[in-house]
Amino acid sequence: MFLVLEFFPLLNQQILLLSQRGEGLNKVKCPEDEAPEFEVQGVIYQPLLDVLMESFQGPAFEKYHLTPFEYCHDPALHPTITPSSTPGHEPFGELPPKHQHVYGEIYTSPAMMKAHLMLPPDPTLETVVAAYMFWSDSTHLANFGNESKYTRAQPTSNACQHQAYIPSLPDDLADQYCKQFRVPLSSLILTHLKHELMHAVWVILLSAEFIEAYIYSIVLECYDGVKRRIFPHIFTYSADYPEKVLLATIKYLGGCPCPRCLDMKTHSKSAQEDTPWLQHKISMVRQWIFASGQLMAGSAVDKALKAKSLVPTRNAFSKLREYGFNFYSIFVLDFLHEFELGVWKAVFTHCIQILHVIGVGAVSSMNERYRKVPTFGWSTI
Ligand SMILES: [Zn+2]
Repeated sequence: MFLVLEFFPLLNQQILLLSQRGEGLNKVKCPEDEAPEFEVQGVIYQPLLDVLMESFQGPAFEKYHLTPFEYCHDPALHPTITPSSTPGHEPFGELPPKHQHVYGEIYTSPAMMKAHLMLPPDPTLETVVAAYMFWSDSTHLANFGNESKYTRAQPTSNACQHQAYIPSLPDDLADQYCKQFRVPLSSLILTHLKHELMHAVWVILLSAEFIEAYIYSIVLECYDGVKRRIFPHIFTYSADYPEKVLLATIKYLGGCPCPRCLDMKTHSKSAQEDTPWLQHKISMVRQWIFASGQLMAGSAVDKALKAKSLVPTRNAFSKLREYGFNFYSIFVLDFLHEFELGVWKAVFTHCIQILHVIGVGAVSSMNERYRKVPTFGWSTI
């Protein structure tokens, strides 16, 4: 079995510790770059471009879609009609009037089509969008939307690459904090440091090399021996709600709780925009906290951030903002974690209650059937 772990570089990453005291105590004023620091050991990661190279130069590449396409269904099309009598491929306006678009893969999505059509022309090399898709649950995984989800879903395909392991905050953090400031570590500061840690790791991942490739592309000799100009794009990031809150730098279940549109009630179609104004606001609030000694839970900070449930952490993904990237748009809905888990649990409980009414052996019969279902991969989920 191929183990990526053996090749991970180990890094001791320093994370800034806010010089912020609890309420009711004297204010600590200190410029941000002079604030006390503590070390978080064991940030294990693979550079984003290494993952890209490994995927495009490995055997998985054979199944990659390099050019996105539209996938349409024509309900009126009879199976006896030969393809030659069907409408042409382009322009798409010639498709039958009642055709339906089928969405299921990144390479058939309007987002990838748009990214592909915006690629600068290259007279000598084929230009390709590498569609990064991230998943995280403390462990960050990455794979590419150029490959079908049906292949990626197979445990034996090894399509998922380990991107990074986010360490926990050190056990002795509370002791260090107390020693430094002579006040106990509050839950507010702890939550803030979790945001800082997540984005410190992503600052490492979004390295200068990656940003250069993001802007200018990277030329790779792919698995088939052909050189291509690859443009890395980040398309989706899937995580459970607490982790999305850290990634989107918003307050947990605040007034604007949705990590994508910041509205959980109406869910606007378009994502919230990462803007220079937003970044300026975060920098301004950090200056208030560090240099002016404002309290994080104080009214001035609250007034500045509350309208959009923001937190005073610089979002690492904002490094790509000036190149057209909007981090709010990547947080896709996770039906299992955000909706279906609760609904399914309620339906399942109801089914078991029905089985109890049906007869004594009904529940054990259902258990027996469940035991016959093979586990996913080598383990349980
Ligand atoms: Zn929303």
